[in-house]
Amino acid sequence: MSDCIFCKLANGEIPTATLYEDEDFRVILDANPATKGHCLILPKKHYADVYEIPDELLEKAFILAKKVAARMTEAMGCDGLNIVQNNKEAAGQTVFHFHIHIIPRYKNDGGMVGWKPGKLTEEAKNEILSAFSAAGGALQ
Ligand code: AMP
Ligand code: ZN
Repeated sequence: MSDCIFCKLANGEIPTATLYEDEDFRVILDANPATKGHCLILPKKHYADVYEIPDELLEKAFILAKKVAARMTEAMGCDGLNIVQNNKEAAGQTVFHFHIHIIPRYKNDGGMVGWKPGKLTEEAKNEILSAFSAAGGALQ
């Protein structure tokens, strides 16, 4: 994808603060961090989102996320950490090249990652259970 900023960053065409690099991924500091140490795991190949990325690369990406999370926790002395991965505009994705956010969390940092809890009704529960199973049955 010649006009994709994350393709350029991941492949070193645009220099950026790099924490780690291997043949499949580059881990960079987010330019607009939610907290100190917020970084991004970028695959070097272009896949728009979780629906497109191949399973084998996704496995590697999440195993790398675990390792980066541990190292960043050690480095920053954070109190917790969110791993966030947005897909499509409705879910807050703004750069359409798959990426995983690693967001260190600190006590009293403002709590930006979250949602307003709702209530699972009987009606919604039954609707979702039947729609999910009608959409394909057992997951392979
Ligand atoms: P998302 O909203 O999940 O698509 O996240 C995109 C993230 O990419 C945001 O947190 C941005 O701050 C970050 N970002 C966008 N452009 C750059 C860039 N050139 N270098 C580093 N981070 C970037
Ligand atoms: Zn890309």
